Amino acid sequence: MKSVDLNKIGDLPGSTDLMPVLFLGHGSPMNAIEENEFVEGFRSISLQLPDPSAILCISAHWETKGTFVTAMEQPPTIHDFGGFPKELFEVQYPAPGSPVLAEQTRSAVKSAIVGLDDHWGLDHGAWSVLRHLYPDAKVPVVQLSLDYCKNPRYHFDLARELASLRRKGVLIVGSGNMVHNLRMVAWDKLNVSGFGFDWALEASERMKTFIQDGDNESLINYEMQGASFHRAIPTPEHFLPALYALALREKNEEITFFNDKAVGGSLTMTSFRISGG
Ligand code: ZN
Repeated sequence: MKSVDLNKIGDLPGSTDLMPVLFLGHGSPMNAIEENEFVEGFRSISLQLPDPSAILCISAHWETKGTFVTAMEQPPTIHDFGGFPKELFEVQYPAPGSPVLAEQTRSAVKSAIVGLDDHWGLDHGAWSVLRHLYPDAKVPVVQLSLDYCKNPRYHFDLARELASLRRKGVLIVGSGNMVHNLRMVAWDKLNVSGFGFDWALEASERMKTFIQDGDNESLINYEMQGASFHRAIPTPEHFLPALYALALREKNEEITFFNDKAVGGSLTMTSFRISGG
């Protein structure tokens, strides 16, 4: 059983080891309730992590004008989708919030005014994956929104300002999908394991090479990377959480990929861990 040390959050100076950072490909909301290889991947990565004092999640599914953090004591579970079975709408992820982490996040970010939010909660970008990593929902979770008015570099630079939280026991989790084009999904091939269109596989391989090489510039400038990237990232929100994670990588920190598979032709579940230490 993972324990939660709330004392690590607060006014303590940076006294803990460097927490890992995760990017999780969340895919279909059904991953929240299905048993499959991706869910197994989420579970197995959580067993390899130090116990976090809290989680800061940047989800593709919370876009706002301006930047906000959830600051309520008890964030509600938001079912921000339609057309799925009742069972999925019944899922609750009752993790507490952390007004203290919300405040720390706000003060860590100097380049933007971060607003404290009391309306959002946990959207499925957060809970559909976190319920596999931390099924007992004891670790407090705070979400940070994506400002849809801003460009990728702005997001990358903002994310770098979150670095100090890693030494306070905070697990920072980006949740999106690096290749994500819902309009091009091959619905008839959803069950064909690993099926990806050529452009999706090409974009995915190039993204992983950029990541391995530490070439963040090419990823920030994804709009300059040609046709496969245009199809892979038709809108930025599912890609940006990966940039948040990469912005937090320190020199020489290792990256490990997992769940590295295409789904339905035009999505990848590719996830990664930045090692910590
Ligand atoms: Zn999504």
